[in-house]
Amino acid sequence: MTQIGFFIDVTKCIGCKTCVVACKDKNNLEVGRNFRRVYSFEQGVFPNPSLTHVSLSCNHCDVPTCIPNCPTTAIFKRAEDGAVLIDHDKCVGCRYCEWNCPYDAPQFNEQLGKMTKCDTCFDLRDAGEEPVCVTSCPLRAIEFGPIKELRKKYGNVSEIKGMPSASITKPNLVIKTK
Ligand code: SF4
Ligand code: SF4
Repeated sequence: MTQIGFFIDVTKCIGCKTCVVACKDKNNLEVGRNFRRVYSFEQGVFPNPSLTHVSLSCNHCDVPTCIPNCPTTAIFKRAEDGAVLIDHDKCVGCRYCEWNCPYDAPQFNEQLGKMTKCDTCFDLRDAGEEPVCVTSCPLRAIEFGPIKELRKKYGNVSEIKGMPSASITKPNLVIKTK
């Protein structure tokens, strides 16, 4: 299995949220349901304040706490690439996965009464394209691919101040810090 993951370059991200909007458009998400979100953290004091933006979705974790807490085994880790997906035939909309994900990745669809989340745009990937968050970012701050390759290129940082500890779910995420 070649585990996939995301690389986020916070030195490039300007917090414009184009990735969020592109994801909403692709997945037809109503107001309030966001598979990708941009968090902004303020640090430092005048005269040296700084603002850091980090774009996060599901991290398709190695220890996905959403999975053992799903009472209907609706969430599963796909064998071929480690993407964490939800089987809507099994999901009963209890929201336990939402409560057990430190990243707020599962997003409840009120209309369907089912949980939804980032699926890595596997339909686009099957067509040889990249996830829309990657292609839409005007600063090219997001990359997607085999996590081993991303770690070889960019290192092993997977949390910054303000984020959940990476020790909880072992996210397949690499962050380039400022
Ligand atoms: S980010 Fe949350 S929903 Fe995604 S695999 Fe990890 S624990 Fe599960
Ligand atoms: S909302 Fe669906 S996917 Fe989430 S824990 Fe409940 S049954 Fe499982």
